[in-house]
Amino acid sequence: MCVPGCQEAVRHALSRRGLFKGAGAFAAAATAPQPAAAAPARAFSAAVDLTHTMSPDFPTFFGVAGIEMDKKFDFKKDGFNLYWWRILEHAGTHLDAPIHFSETGATAEKIPADTLVVSLAVVDVTAKAAQNPDYLVTRDDLAAWERRHRRLPDNCCVAMHSGWGQYAGNAVKFTGKDSAGVLHFPGFGLDAAEWLMRERKVVGIAVDTLSLDHGPSKDFKVHSAWLPSGRWGLENVANLDKVPASGATLVVGLAKVKDATGGPARLIALV
Ligand SMILES: [Zn+2]
Repeated sequence: MCVPGCQEAVRHALSRRGLFKGAGAFAAAATAPQPAAAAPARAFSAAVDLTHTMSPDFPTFFGVAGIEMDKKFDFKKDGFNLYWWRILEHAGTHLDAPIHFSETGATAEKIPADTLVVSLAVVDVTAKAAQNPDYLVTRDDLAAWERRHRRLPDNCCVAMHSGWGQYAGNAVKFTGKDSAGVLHFPGFGLDAAEWLMRERKVVGIAVDTLSLDHGPSKDFKVHSAWLPSGRWGLENVANLDKVPASGATLVVGLAKVKDATGGPARLIALV
């Protein structure tokens, strides 16, 4: 299955491959007697890690440990170290696959690699979220991004930067859980998500909070609209304050597990 805009993503990847080929040619030339003129060793200047460190302490939506690690072999005793992991698919920095909210959507291993290397658009709503922890990204926020930068590029990922990433070490603040057990953190508004689906070619949305839908949501409208359309989501994204609002390339290193509804992902932004 190819999500909307997949073909453009393939063309984009091919043009990038041309750049990498150039880097390979340089490496080969470096060993030749007459080095070629200098060429960039890689087509980006920095790789920014957008991934939180996973541990049993990382806050989860369900309030339970997202990973248990059982050391089965120890270097001193066995000559090597090895853990058995038991993990919650949707914990830490992770991807929501289409199957997460649909009967027949793509599972993790079926998401095409070409849709996991994409342009990254970062929508800064930190000031609004600081005033309202239940803030929902609006169509106006997306329009403001386009006015400041350009039309959202095809096959991009649109990320909400709410500022919540800085609270990941503090479960009370990160989940915003109140005395009634209701969570409070920002997310995407349904109208904004629907507009992205209808009017732009976006392959994924990302949030620096626990869920695409904001904390108080009980009906998960954004999950229910977005994922069944064949698009993916990313949650608990880190360091969105360290990447430009426009121009970075996001590499989604999703664990490739058969039938998975999502899973841990190492997210790297090439800047
Ligand atoms: Zn999830």
